[in-house]
Amino acid sequence: MRHPIRQTLATELVQLGVGCDERTGTISVPIYTSATYRHPAVGESTGFDYTRSGNPTRQILEEGLAKLEGGARGLAFSSGMAALTTFFLHFSSGDHVLVSEDLYGGTYRILDQVFAKFGLLVSYVDTTSASAVEAAITTNTKALLIETPGNPLLGVADLEALGQLCKRHTLLFAVDNTFLTPILQRPFEFGADVIIHSGTKYLGGHNDICAGVLVTREAKLGDRFYFLQNSTGAILPPQDCYLLIRSLKTLTLRIERHCANAEKIAAWLDGHPRVRTVYYPGLKTHPGHELSKQQSKGFGGMISFRVESAAHARQVLEKVELLSFAESLGGVESLITLPAVQTHGDIPAADRKRLGICESLLRLSVGIEDPDDLIADLEQALA
Ligand SMILES: *Cc1c(COP(=O)(O)O)cnc(C)c1O
Repeated sequence: MRHPIRQTLATELVQLGVGCDERTGTISVPIYTSATYRHPAVGESTGFDYTRSGNPTRQILEEGLAKLEGGARGLAFSSGMAALTTFFLHFSSGDHVLVSEDLYGGTYRILDQVFAKFGLLVSYVDTTSASAVEAAITTNTKALLIETPGNPLLGVADLEALGQLCKRHTLLFAVDNTFLTPILQRPFEFGADVIIHSGTKYLGGHNDICAGVLVTREAKLGDRFYFLQNSTGAILPPQDCYLLIRSLKTLTLRIERHCANAEKIAAWLDGHPRVRTVYYPGLKTHPGHELSKQQSKGFGGMISFRVESAAHARQVLEKVELLSFAESLGGVESLITLPAVQTHGDIPAADRKRLGICESLLRLSVGIEDPDDLIADLEQALA
């Protein structure tokens, strides 16, 4: 049944998969566990042959993911790293890609320790500066992959400027949109070609699944990544597809609360006498504040902050009670971590130091609890 009325993204997300099986009229999406499908006749197919190549539960999710980002094709992977791996498999030996220097440690690791062996050339650049990006382009440069805001320092890249630059130099423009999600930031509107997510984070939102997402703006590029996904096999299993569909239904509500909580906590941390610096794009003092306001609908739920010393940071991690000292982010439960040791441990020490990822820097993934409870916990842990 199709509604003639125009639906907002929030409505479409809630309605994802409703009535997908006309025979039963099911509201909740069925989990199709079948690994294989009967052929009606030789050379004929129901559209489903073998679950790696296509699965009805995954198809509903993937169509929802494409809609969510406003792209032509969505693909669901077994992890964010599987989606990123598939993205890098698109390139050939000798190709050069530019990536944000303030990025997820796992992306750095796979480029440096895996793809380097196959001759993929990489430069890490400060993508908050379009001129630094332009200066790093060589004759072999094929793509730019950015994270904005960055991780863990939350620097903001200018999507419009980078989109135009990629167009001028015919670079594939890819955005890891894990931190803000399409509820807050819509990279295709700025000319991005590919959007990647760790679905383990906000899209999943409950710290209970590992998933990855890749969406392309154009169908042809989507076919290419589907070919790579089907060839290498890092698909999301149907049970997890179901969980991710369920999570997407509350994404809008969750993101609103993550943002409201984070704004309140960032302002509180900023006024705390034992906190040295707070990195949150929602603060007026953040260098990316104005740009964030122009290109995003909110500042997200991630905050990094520097305390007095490495010992003080360790004290906070030991004393938190409500907040969990754990890696990952984007779930309803608040988490706090030490990027220099945990999420960014694979970045060489000299680079960490230059970027400012030292052992007095803490990263907070603000959940959807009562913000005053989170503040009370931080207060006693910082004291
Ligand atoms: C976690 C994360 C990844 C990796 O995703 P997994 O689901 O852990 O494989 C990639 N990019 C960003 C920004 C992340 O936070």
